[in-house]
Amino acid sequence: MLQAISPECAIAIAAACALACLSSAPGARAQAEPLPPKGADSVHAIYERLLPQIEKIPIFDNHAHPGYADDPDVDAMASPEDESEAFRLRETNPELAAAAKEFFGYPFDDFAPDHAKWLEDKTAQLKREQGTKYFSNILDRAGIETVLANRVAMPDYLDPSRFRWVFFMDSVLFPFNNTQLEKRDSDEALYLSIQEKVLHRYMKQEGISSLPDDLAGYEAFVRSVVADNQKRGGVAMKFEAAYFRSLYFTDPSRDEAEPIYRKYHAGGIPTNAEYRVFQDYVFRRLLDDALTLHVPVHFHSAVGTGDFYNLREGNGLQLENVLRDPRYLGITFVLLHGCYPYERQAIWLAAMKNVYLDSSLMEQLMYPAALKNSLRAWLEVFPDKIVFGSDAFPFNAALGAEVDFWFGVQSARKALAAALTEMVAEGEVTEARALELARGYLHDNAAKLYPPK
Ligand SMILES: [Zn+2]
Repeated sequence: MLQAISPECAIAIAAACALACLSSAPGARAQAEPLPPKGADSVHAIYERLLPQIEKIPIFDNHAHPGYADDPDVDAMASPEDESEAFRLRETNPELAAAAKEFFGYPFDDFAPDHAKWLEDKTAQLKREQGTKYFSNILDRAGIETVLANRVAMPDYLDPSRFRWVFFMDSVLFPFNNTQLEKRDSDEALYLSIQEKVLHRYMKQEGISSLPDDLAGYEAFVRSVVADNQKRGGVAMKFEAAYFRSLYFTDPSRDEAEPIYRKYHAGGIPTNAEYRVFQDYVFRRLLDDALTLHVPVHFHSAVGTGDFYNLREGNGLQLENVLRDPRYLGITFVLLHGCYPYERQAIWLAAMKNVYLDSSLMEQLMYPAALKNSLRAWLEVFPDKIVFGSDAFPFNAALGAEVDFWFGVQSARKALAAALTEMVAEGEVTEARALELARGYLHDNAAKLYPPK
């Protein structure tokens, strides 16, 4: 006859079994340690085992601006001429010359004008020779499988099987006379003129020459832009609203927005308060469209170009009321640039099952030693909610997006390998689990967010 056991006894047996299983798993320890234990493999030995395996993982780049430097559709943003450039992104950074050497056999250590001309000529020659294969070859060299290309429109020189389109939707938040907003500072004057061009492009796309007469017509126009962009291959919509206004969006009623549209759609300058109510209303309608059309939503959520960028208003944490709103559980949200430099707080937004953090730009601004610490903080909380992005962008005619892809990928792989090395050395994960987390961050977590090709 079987003897009944008490619940306490059953728990003790289960705990003993669990401990036995843990201690028999290779490399796993029952309790993580704050330092690598004495006599264990050195962190260098673990790093040297992990890095070559991580280098073989094909990359899904969640965010970049691929294209030639003279292509005006590369971005709906421009860098102000005299902005303060972060230290690592200056042309004097020897890593950039090293990247150009690696990719193009660049024979110089700096970008003096006559040296840069060599690189400009070399890449121009390769573009002529390779045509539409040029950028795909760059991806092959960098180990990138797929890139989400955040551009105003897609050019015919990017192969759609490798580059998928993320379109901008901020322009529909600025349909009125923007004179008042442009006066705020020289950056705003530059940015808003680009938004106005994008809006006129969308109006042309939808076959209208002036704004619709009423708000219902404007809502229909906005929705048809999203739907048509999706039909043209768009896999996500992007907001760079943080460059123009606060990322805190209220939830105004239609009754509040309608008279504002009626008053200003044909002329006149709205007050800042009126414009804000209208923008918040249209933003909410765009989220409704994202929900019904199944379009993931990307936000610029970190520091940005231009010295007037408002850190507090542009902080992605301002989006918390939207991200935690149960009405939007069906929308996939991706916070581009991981809300840097607030990335440690931001990882807790990824507690929402539909919210993801993207590390693009972080691996360009931060050196690998600093990025290692940020990635480790993310990997230890929600490792299945973080995605790689390069934010590759053409700096100028010589220093193109090509070099930037390589630069971002190299930095991220090294920082990732180092973060996982520490986690293995301190008994948090096995090497096998570390490589699963690496595949998630570099490829799998992002690849599943967008419809298959
Ligand atoms: Zn970007």
